[in-house]
Amino acid sequence: MSVIDFERRPQFKNGEKEIQRYVCPHITIALDHHRRLLVCEDCNQHMDPFDFLIRVSKKEIRIRDEITFLSKQCKILHEEVAELRRTSQNLKATIRRDRRKIDD
Ligand SMILES: [Zn+2]
Repeated sequence: MSVIDFERRPQFKNGEKEIQRYVCPHITIALDHHRRLLVCEDCNQHMDPFDFLIRVSKKEIRIRDEITFLSKQCKILHEEVAELRRTSQNLKATIRRDRRKIDD
């Protein structure tokens, strides 16, 4: 009976694990099929694919929160603009009425 060794092979070469902790600011990513890692094409930094997905999903959650906040702000501003237009129309009507009274 043969025994299968399930010990996980190290993903990163010596020194890469520390590099992997830095957040790469670049967005051009390639696949290292042989080592099953992601590689930044700009700075050649190797990244764990799952860590990269977590980073992307956190950004997406933050962006969705910002979109929700900005949508609410946009709705509030639209309502304020509509109210200002109504006020402007009312003031113009008042001015026209007062001019007619003056002319009469
Ligand atoms: Zn990079």
